[in-house]
Amino acid sequence: MKTIELANHFFQNLVSPYSRDIKSKIESDNLSLINAVSYSFVVSHFTDYLWECEKTRSRQTQRHEIIKCLDERFGLLGNRFKLGTFNFINALNNSVKHVGLDRAKRHNSNIQGHHGLLNIQVLNNKDGRIWFDNGINRFDYGRIILRHVSSLFSVSYEELPEDITMEILHGEYNFYCDNDEFDHDNPTQAIDILVDRLNPICLDCGMPEDGCDCDSFIFTDDIACFKPEDKGYMDYDKIMSAISGAYKLD
Ligand SMILES: [Zn+2]
Repeated sequence: MKTIELANHFFQNLVSPYSRDIKSKIESDNLSLINAVSYSFVVSHFTDYLWECEKTRSRQTQRHEIIKCLDERFGLLGNRFKLGTFNFINALNNSVKHVGLDRAKRHNSNIQGHHGLLNIQVLNNKDGRIWFDNGINRFDYGRIILRHVSSLFSVSYEELPEDITMEILHGEYNFYCDNDEFDHDNPTQAIDILVDRLNPICLDCGMPEDGCDCDSFIFTDDIACFKPEDKGYMDYDKIMSAISGAYKLD
């Protein structure tokens, strides 16, 4: 029982508040190398807590199975990190911790075969953004990877389930928040809704189209570009009618 308590404490007091802090730093281009590396440490260490919890629950689990489970439930979709988003963070973290990765180990060889060399030198700060660049892949590590994970784990205290570790690995808890924050039945929000729909942010980097530079990123198996976020259905006539009494339906 004590292990699970400690893991929940770790999430509540470290992972969750740190995620909110990191998310805010990423969104304001104020992320330092220390921030990015230490947050990656914390996320990887949380994997160890989850693993210890599973052992306490008498489940015969390997550490890599915990990472696989996180990736299946919460990893980025698409081909960019098809070996896993959490797997990538974990490998990068290990490469920093162990002065590079030992290629003799099959797991390390696989991930470096796919993404290229991993070590502390592949991360660099430029203008408050942390870039991953090893000559094979080049992308904004903060906006593509850490933004995704920190959004998932930015759970507020009121929303925290009693046993977050169980919810993450086996529960129905939905970390993905609703990306439509508007009330479509409230006519006073109609203009804001229209402006929001006409100015989608990039699904990958979180920037509006004129600030998105995803088309300069290089991934092993993907072409990067601006990907507008799908905000779901909007009743155009209803919104326009709320904005202007002069609006006429076709
Ligand atoms: Zn983008």
